[in-house]
Amino acid sequence: MASSLARLLPELRACKACEPALPLGARPVFQLDRRARILIASQAPGRVAHARGRPFDDASGDRLRAWLGVSRETFYDPACFAIFPMGLCFPGKAASGDLPPRPECAPRWRRQVLDALPDIRLTLAIGQHALAWHLQRRASVADMVTAWREGLDRGLLPLPHPSPRNQNWGRQRPWFEAEVLPALRAAVAAVLSPRAPA
Ligand code: SF4
Repeated sequence: MASSLARLLPELRACKACEPALPLGARPVFQLDRRARILIASQAPGRVAHARGRPFDDASGDRLRAWLGVSRETFYDPACFAIFPMGLCFPGKAASGDLPPRPECAPRWRRQVLDALPDIRLTLAIGQHALAWHLQRRASVADMVTAWREGLDRGLLPLPHPSPRNQNWGRQRPWFEAEVLPALRAAVAAVLSPRAPA
């Protein structure tokens, strides 16, 4: 039986399952609405998203919105985008960047929440952990993004993390900006078009 998002949301917001391991405590950050048409499957909120309680309200989000070709208003319209990271709470800092998403989170929540989003037509899997879960295989981010055309045919586009600290990734792979980003913008525009078939 499909999960009800209305039932899940209060449970998600109250989750403290791995709080002892979270340096700033549990504060699940996500955007979910059963009308959403595009799923952003990301990694975990950073410190700014944790403080603001809003996903991608930072420099990574600005870069992601530019990739998608959408305004902040559209990005934060829950009837357009669901934003559901692999780990819902800020996991803490590592020597470089943030720690990986907490491993307790996806097994606990991911399948039942995705089952409660009936209208998703395009999934954007961002970064190593979301790619591994959604593509069900282990490979480098570069290898998985290189296969973007096959993914897009199935409604699942693999992407690197849009963090500004990751800019070299794109500079070393000019095909990403030349080929993947135009295809990404076209796919997003098609899904969000008022004339898109249900
Ligand atoms: S990271 Fe996930 S499992 Fe851990 S407290 Fe936050 S919502 Fe719960």
